[in-house]
Amino acid sequence: MNYQAKQLPFKPDSLKGISDKTSLTHDKLYQAYVAKKDQIQAELKNVDLTTANQTYSQLRALKDAETFAVNGAYLHEIYFAGLGGDGAPKGDIIEQINQDFGSFEQFTALAKACAMAARGWAVLAWDTFEQCLHIYNGDAHNQGGVWGALPILTIDVYEHAYFMDYGSDRKAYLEALFQNIDWQAVDQRWSQIKR
Ligand code: FE
Repeated sequence: MNYQAKQLPFKPDSLKGISDKTSLTHDKLYQAYVAKKDQIQAELKNVDLTTANQTYSQLRALKDAETFAVNGAYLHEIYFAGLGGDGAPKGDIIEQINQDFGSFEQFTALAKACAMAARGWAVLAWDTFEQCLHIYNGDAHNQGGVWGALPILTIDVYEHAYFMDYGSDRKAYLEALFQNIDWQAVDQRWSQIKR
């Protein structure tokens, strides 16, 4: 396996309005997705291919679990990578945001609303087909993703991301989250995608 879990790119107690307890618990969940990804992909090497069946088979169960675990790992890695900053817009990504969403303010209003409307993730992605930025929503790690859209900034709205700090007040969590976005780090991912 080439994919290794990464360390949190910020100190767990350094975020504004998101507690170290939330960040450490969240990191444990991410590490668990990476471990399950390894386990599932190891089991896939030994699965009985002759019993493959769309209603139930070991291969079906593992392939379904694989997308949940893999996306769980990748979406969280991008989520953490986008945090630890001061929320101030920086970099070329902001020009593209202005072009595709009208203004940074219009983008943040749309992103927060999409995050209120999702049950799992709101994802700012580069749509390689339409050649523009777009926000796609997912209700689970393996639902709602668009193949051909490359995630740049992910917003986790699973309850584990905010319930300890805000109870059911997701809006307050999102306000805090946006004050911690590291737009320089987001811009780095954007320059890799542009290349
Ligand atoms: Fe999460």
